[in-house]
Amino acid sequence: MNSSPELDWQRSVFYPATVLVEEAAADYPLTRSILSRLKNTQVVTVKRPAGDDFSSLSRLYSPRTTLFLALHRGRFLKACPGTAESYRCCLYQILHLGLGCNIGCSYCVLQGYLNNPFITQFVNLDDAFAELDEELAKPGVFYRIGTGEFTDSLFMDPLTNLAPRLIDYFGGCKNAILELKTKSVAISSLLDYPGEIGETVVSWSLNAPAVTAREEGLAASIEERLQAAARCRERGFRIGLHFDPLLYFPGWEEGYRQTVAEIFKYLKGSDIIWISIGAFRFMPQVKEVLRENHCQSNITAGEFIRGLDGKQRYFSAIRRRLYRFLVDEIKSYAPEVFIYFCMEDQYLWQDTFGYAPADNIELGHWLDKCCYRYAGS
Ligand code: SF4
Repeated sequence: MNSSPELDWQRSVFYPATVLVEEAAADYPLTRSILSRLKNTQVVTVKRPAGDDFSSLSRLYSPRTTLFLALHRGRFLKACPGTAESYRCCLYQILHLGLGCNIGCSYCVLQGYLNNPFITQFVNLDDAFAELDEELAKPGVFYRIGTGEFTDSLFMDPLTNLAPRLIDYFGGCKNAILELKTKSVAISSLLDYPGEIGETVVSWSLNAPAVTAREEGLAASIEERLQAAARCRERGFRIGLHFDPLLYFPGWEEGYRQTVAEIFKYLKGSDIIWISIGAFRFMPQVKEVLRENHCQSNITAGEFIRGLDGKQRYFSAIRRRLYRFLVDEIKSYAPEVFIYFCMEDQYLWQDTFGYAPADNIELGHWLDKCCYRYAGS
């Protein structure tokens, strides 16, 4: 297996030019430790905008270069928004510790959802851990929990040093696994983690190299991500991979073939706990925002159908071609790897794999079993 000692682990890390600190968040330890790591950064204390209307703040401070440190006042643990019964969802839980990131993928769904345009870090971590304590005390439930749905799990880790704290916490859990999902290579705190790693999965989102170059802003290259994955595997982390969004574009077969070949230059099948696949989909209202923010991108050109969850999707014949191709490529290197679809219907499961989960609960159990199997290896 290849791994490169020369990789720049600081690449794609976010260092803000300005930090806005919500008044009520000023005295929290995480606020103080983030500010202590920043040099030459403007720090401004602000009141939480009434009605969470950030428009005046965003006229004064650029959302691209500003970090907002704030309190989170709702639930930290949320069910992943798998919205329609007709598509299989794996019943994942999101640990909501921050919002947004600086990587700037053209397809990022957050563009259409957030009224807060600033990259935001919630600093009331004790409240998050207290909520986790309460939730994880429920008997007979296994939790797969990730921090990388509303943000990238690691792009700011050199500032927040959150990953080691989360690994500490989940290392002591018998009924939960943590997944850190990223497109960065900010893995220093993972490699330097001093203790037993426990049940932590580090996952990289992957795509065809041309998609990465054109649509994924400041993200690390595919080779860099896989070099980072190999280093994390050497350190004992489980590795997850996510092909989401899978895009249909001229040359897609060669592009995805290259990425799959690259995976197995750096990892063995037995290093990988799971690979998810999800074809490109978006809420109709995201289309205009995406075109405005990323005028060079043409990923929303072409024909889409409106799915049962209201999202625009490729026609099923296109999804079928994408899935069959990618699954066959992966299986040709590692037939044992568990592959699943994120938000896909029964028919395409059946068509691609020859089997399908009866419902979301069954799919959830399949992923839970990957965790047990891995824990026993
Ligand atoms: S890395 Fe994730 S959160 Fe960040 S811009 Fe890309 S899709 Fe959005």
